[in-house]
Amino acid sequence: MADDNANTESNLPEKCIFCDIVNGTVDKEKVIYKDDNLVVFPDRSPVSTHHYLVVTKEHIRDAKHLDGNHVQIVEKMVNVGKQILQNNGGNVDDVRMGFHWPPFHSVNHLHLHVISPQTQMRFIPRGIFKVNSPWFVSPVWVLARLKKAAGEKN
Ligand SMILES: [Zn+2]
Ligand SMILES: [Zn+2]
Repeated sequence: MADDNANTESNLPEKCIFCDIVNGTVDKEKVIYKDDNLVVFPDRSPVSTHHYLVVTKEHIRDAKHLDGNHVQIVEKMVNVGKQILQNNGGNVDDVRMGFHWPPFHSVNHLHLHVISPQTQMRFIPRGIFKVNSPWFVSPVWVLARLKKAAGEKN
């Protein structure tokens, strides 16, 4: 892809819409949850009744750029995602959660999609957010990968 080197030091910093939201410079009113590491806001184009994005405050490019040190933060993303869903009247037993897997990106800043009810998703988004397809992976899959990486380091 042409923009593969966009993050290298020789280039100017990439403009990132999610960093702008994290920093409160845009869409401040949309943020429904914030803590030391994470920010949550609704997806701009919801594909079901509930559709939230759990975003790391740190600019991590995507799930492929996570390593063994990120196990806790990914677990926290999942827990916060479920909590937000529950707080907003969603059903945690009918939820689809996942990360984009490169080269498929919407925004190049790590975010967990939390979609519920998954049984009411329309046809096309079902394909885009198809869990454990080559372009969308579950937190369970990501965590297994990170734990393996953490284990190999020791
Ligand atoms: Zn960012
Ligand atoms: Zn996305």
